[in-house]
Parts: sequence; C-alpha cells; structure tokens
Amino acid sequence: MRLSRYYLPILKENPKEAEIVSHRLMLRTGMIRQQSQGIYSWLPLGKRVLDKVNRIIREEQDRSGAIELLMPTLQSAELWQESGRYDAYGKEMLRIKDRQDRPMLYGPTNEEMITDIFRSTVKSYKSLPLNLYHIQLKFRDEIRPRFGTMRSREFLMKDAYSFDLTREGAEHSYNKMFTAYLRTFARMGLRAIPMRADTGPIGGNLSHEFIILADTGESEVFCHRDFVNFDIPAEDTDFDDVGGLKKIFDQWTSVYAATSEMHDEAAFDAIPEGERLSARGIEVGHIFYFGTKYSEAMGAKVQGPDGKEHIVHMGSYGIGPTRLVPAIIEASHDENGIIWPASVAPFDVVVINMKAGDEACDKACEEIYAALTRAGKDVLYDDTDDRAGQKFATADLIGVPTQIIVGPRSIAQGEVEVKDRKTGARDTMTVEAAINRVN
Ligand code: ATP
Ligand code: MG
Ligand code: MG
Ligand code: MG
Repeated sequence: MRLSRYYLPILKENPKEAEIVSHRLMLRTGMIRQQSQGIYSWLPLGKRVLDKVNRIIREEQDRSGAIELLMPTLQSAELWQESGRYDAYGKEMLRIKDRQDRPMLYGPTNEEMITDIFRSTVKSYKSLPLNLYHIQLKFRDEIRPRFGTMRSREFLMKDAYSFDLTREGAEHSYNKMFTAYLRTFARMGLRAIPMRADTGPIGGNLSHEFIILADTGESEVFCHRDFVNFDIPAEDTDFDDVGGLKKIFDQWTSVYAATSEMHDEAAFDAIPEGERLSARGIEVGHIFYFGTKYSEAMGAKVQGPDGKEHIVHMGSYGIGPTRLVPAIIEASHDENGIIWPASVAPFDVVVINMKAGDEACDKACEEIYAALTRAGKDVLYDDTDDRAGQKFATADLIGVPTQIIVGPRSIAQGEVEVKDRKTGARDTMTVEAAINRVN
C-alpha cells in the first residue's frame, strides 16, 4: 500500500474526549470514528487490525472443532418470549417494530436464535457434539458507553454455542473453548487469566471470564501471581483428548482467580502476601455452561442411543474483537504511539522514503516494496513528500513492527536502516539484508 494513495486520516491534536490511551490512539491514528454515541465506523487502518484479530479467533475456533455460520443482527421478539428473556433483558435491549408492527430486536446475544436453528435441524445424538459460532455485530444499549470501542453500544462479538447429549460431554465442550481461548489471546500477545465468574442474565453454573490485567480495566480482580508462568496449550493440542483438555483446565483453575462478584476474601487472604495480585482488568472473553436452561424452555432435544428423547446440554462462549483491539493497545504502547504485536499489526513493515523524488531513494524503496509484497508481506510504503521527521512520527504512532528507512546518504553506500518499533534498535544493512530481515 502506497501511503500517497491510502486513507489514513491522522489527527494532529490529541482528541479531548478520550480518557484512556487506547481510545486516544485509535482516534489519533484514524482507526475508528464515532458515528453516534457508542457507535463506531472502523476506518481502513482499524479494519486491518480487526480483520487480523478475527482471523486468529477463527483459526482457533476452527482448530477446536467449532463450525462457523452467520446469523442476522435483527431477531424476532417471539423467540425471546419463548425463552422468557424478552421482558427480563431490560433496557439494554434495543427494541424495534417493522412495518407490519411486529416486534423485533437488535440481538444483544444469540442463545435463542441458535437454539431455534438447532431444534429445527438436529434430531439425533449422532450429530453431537456440535459447536456453532459466528462473528457478528451485537447491540446493547449500555448505560455508560465509554472508552471508544472498549465499551460501545454496537460491537462485534464472536459467539459460539455448544450442544451435547450429556453433562460430561458439555464439560468437554467447555474445556475445548477454555483451551482455544488461552491460545487465542496468547497469539495476540496477551496474557488472559480465566477467572471464576458470575453467570448473570445468561444463567447457569459454570463460567469463566478471561481477563487482561490493565489499570484502565473496568473490573476489579483478584488472583495468584502464578498465572504469569503457566504454559499456553500447544498448537498440536488434541481437542478430542478428554483427559488432556481436563488437565489444561485443572492447571489453569488450580490457583485463585476471581472477579469482584465472585471474590472470596478468606480464600484470597490465605495466599501468601507476595503472591497475591489485586488489580484491575478488562473482560475480553466469557464462557458459560448453562445446562438445559434454553433447550428446556425452547424444546431442543435429540433422540439418544436409548431411543428416548433427551434435552440437550448447552454452553455459550463469547469474545469481543472490537474490545480486544483497544485491550491490545492498552497492553502495548509507549509515549510515541502503538506497538503492535506482529500477529495483529495492520502492516508488517513500513518503508520510509526520506526523500521522495530522489532517484536512488525511489529506486531502492520500489525494489524493497515490490520484493516484500511479492513475499506476501503487508507493506506500507511512505512515498509522500512529507518531512522525514513527520514520517518517523507517523510510523511510530501507527506502531508497525518494523521500519525500513531509506535516505539519500546511506543509499549512496547501498545501505538502509532497519528500526524495530518495540525496542527502538536501529541497524544499518544492505537493501538485500533488509528484505531478508523482514522475510
Ligand atoms: P461487560 O461485563 O464488560 O459489560 P458482558 O459480561 O456484558 O461484558 P458478555 O455478555 O459476557 O459481556 O459478552 C461476551 C464478550 O463480548 C465480553 O467478554 C466482551 O469481550 C464483549 N462485550 C460485551 N459488551 C461489550 C461492549 N459493550 N462493547 C464491546 N465489547 C463488549
Ligand atoms: Mg455487559
Ligand atoms: Mg461482564
Ligand atoms: Mg461477561
């Protein structure tokens, strides 16, 4: 991508409305734009990051055996009357009427709809276990939307729903998601801690919130320091290995971790002082096992091996991609801007032409740009005629992991500079070596 032809509406001033660093940086870099309260557009730079976050989520959902579909944002109120949640959900639900005066709603979550799909299509235990997910916009009319896309009214959610014949089966499905979540967040450079959580209006009795520790987090959390050292499950984890996944679950739930709603002061105080962590955190994911709550109310059952009908056991599993993007920034930035982990960076590398129009600079930049693009890298080429200082500031601000800086003096020796955004380390090398460094 040539910056001269790209759309990167960077703000010169710090936006006054932004209270936390991620919100400030997302506005300044032109990643997002507020359209009305708690409702955002994702501009091209932001969209690139969001797509990479979603790709990691998809890969890990697929690896665990979940299957993607896409449900609509608008739902009929009837389904929610069946489950009994239409009245219970309250003001967070945006209710609308269509031209025939039928009550509709903008889905805040999809348990009812997926249960409806399941009950009308699945009849036998032989189709189980089944886990269906989608990544779709949700709407919740939050009392206090704030911090940009961290708590917005319209937001993206990956929500998965599992169906099993038995409670034991459902626990294995839960452990699959638990394991997939550990991998998902780790791949984004985050350490998310699973904490025992309240099940809230979704209902049920087994639930974990995945929390990123951050001073700007809205949740108050308490946990053991040991979490920092636990291993992330490997890429070749066997998701059909019931005992193996149980072991992962057991380890990650072996030490204390709870949100304030579930906090047990006495249990926490029993941990030696130096090993206790009392902090703030951001909820980036939440998983529930809720048994037959919806399947019973909505008649989702299958024929079992015994020939009888069985109400299915269900779980639901959410991740907030549009909250994850600011959470990653909260965890990874400095005074000059964002520092993207490579896995979610909008571009892998930025090529900075310090003197656009200079023949040698232009030629070297074009060569690097072409070679890296051919190699499948996402390359941003700053070919504008801005001042060099301005270009450096922009590159740092948008946080691309590697910068290749091409200036007239060094290119005369056939050399360029490669800067690592995170460490700030700069190395001088040949054009070829720079290309190889990024490859
Ligand atoms: P919170 O406690 O922050 O209000 P929640 O518990 O209501 O979140 P869930 O119903 O568990 O949210 O939804 C699953 C995931 O969706 C959350 O873990 C979070 O990552 C994301 N999410 C929920 N509400 C919002 C929101 N208003 N803006 C952005 N992401 C959200
Ligand atoms: Mg909420
Ligand atoms: Mg919550
Ligand atoms: Mg939650």
